[in-house]
Amino acid sequence: MTGSSGDPERVVSALADADDRIVEGALRPKRLSEVIGQDRVREQLSLVLEGALRRGRAPDHVLLSGPPGLGKTTFAMIIAAELGAPLRITSGPAIERAGDLAAILSTLTVGEVVFIDEIHRVARPAEELLYLAMEDFRVDVVIGKGPGATAIPLDIAPFTLVGATTRAGLLPAALRDRFGFTAHLDFYEPEELGVIVRRSAGLLGVALREDGADEIAGRSRGTPRIANRLLRRVRDFAEVRGDGVVTRDCARAALELYEVDESGLDRLDRAVLSALVCRFGGGPVGLSTLAVAVGEEAETVEVVAEPFLVRAGLMARTPRGRVATPAAWQHLELPVPRDAAWARQIGAGPDWAGQQEAGQDAAGESHDATLFD
Ligand code: ADP
Repeated sequence: MTGSSGDPERVVSALADADDRIVEGALRPKRLSEVIGQDRVREQLSLVLEGALRRGRAPDHVLLSGPPGLGKTTFAMIIAAELGAPLRITSGPAIERAGDLAAILSTLTVGEVVFIDEIHRVARPAEELLYLAMEDFRVDVVIGKGPGATAIPLDIAPFTLVGATTRAGLLPAALRDRFGFTAHLDFYEPEELGVIVRRSAGLLGVALREDGADEIAGRSRGTPRIANRLLRRVRDFAEVRGDGVVTRDCARAALELYEVDESGLDRLDRAVLSALVCRFGGGPVGLSTLAVAVGEEAETVEVVAEPFLVRAGLMARTPRGRVATPAAWQHLELPVPRDAAWARQIGAGPDWAGQQEAGQDAAGESHDATLFD
């Protein structure tokens, strides 16, 4: 992911910073049985893996979609662990040419799991190679250039591809269709995040009270990565300013300092919301216009701030642009204008908003995000 969305200054960014990557290794659940939440995905996946193990064959390719920080990488690692197979990790932006991918695929051992993060960003020529590899376990190695170039087919070991994407709507249908199992990871409930925070506190040796865990969970915008990060920031606060024990009061004081409000909104979220409400009268407004108004990249607003604002019922994505819901005015402690009700009239209700988040329109069709601009 590019842009300032990975800004370590932003304590509620769902993207991993260097600090997160170091700690996350220790906090990641290693087996399906250790995963908290995502019950349906966990159950479906366990059937897919169990079935494959019984047949003694590599399972279907798996596509995991959902906002950052919800556990896509964790699930990929768990799939390899459950299968007892080695794992090869790469990412879409790292695969610029078909040769980059051929180099990985041609050296696989039987049953290996290949994880491609941000798979929607794989370069086009490599994507073609991927289709053939996924379907026939074959790659065409091109020798020479121009009219004299020849493609030599090369058999590769049967493998399982695990693709992860934050933008399922951007995946070409031809690629999406080649995955035998697709799972959408959803935001977590505060209770589940409470369990995650308590587990992490145990692993990190943090003294955490029940009410402290609940306070952190409630401000973690449904995202385990953020919950774990807030726990670390609150622990610092407790150790430096208190007696090292994370209580509700301590968590509140710490998160106030980091400008994370009770609903988990931070400065960027509030900037987006107040631009939408105050400068554009509640919308509809295009994504790029909104991004310019808050001085951020469109991708940051779209991937980092927006899914949570939509989920919190403060904003909706409509075919005409982004709109604020009446709750947005209330959140900013402003009177709701009478004409804000139009947002409901054009169908920007919670159901519609939920489908947008999953990259689906009301008819269930996926669409390109640019449709909204
Ligand atoms: P993504 O790949 O979707 O960005 P990750 O798999 O890297 O997210 O998850 C981020 C962190 O959140 C992990 O290191 C892990 O500690 C934590 N995490 C994610 N999902 C869960 C879960 N279901 N239970 C416990 N911890 C989780």
